[in-house]
Amino acid sequence: METNRVERIGCFRCRLYDRIGRRCTVGKVNPRTKLDTYEVVQVLGARALCSFNLYRDQIVSAVAPDRNGKRR
Ligand code: SF4
Repeated sequence: METNRVERIGCFRCRLYDRIGRRCTVGKVNPRTKLDTYEVVQVLGARALCSFNLYRDQIVSAVAPDRNGKRR
């Protein structure tokens, strides 16, 4: 059975994680909670979020302005 569920990938399982340097090699942030994800977007912007983050699309669509420049 196929689902559309997105699987969250933690940094320790990611091939882009530098275990010695203890950081993401592409400079992204992957918060664990929805609230932390929201705060990262507020402070650093949506481009700082990792594409593997579970809440990314939901948060970005909520805080991003629409075509008229208004927030939803
Ligand atoms: S932030 Fe994203 S791309 Fe970077 S190491 Fe973590 S999971 Fe991988």
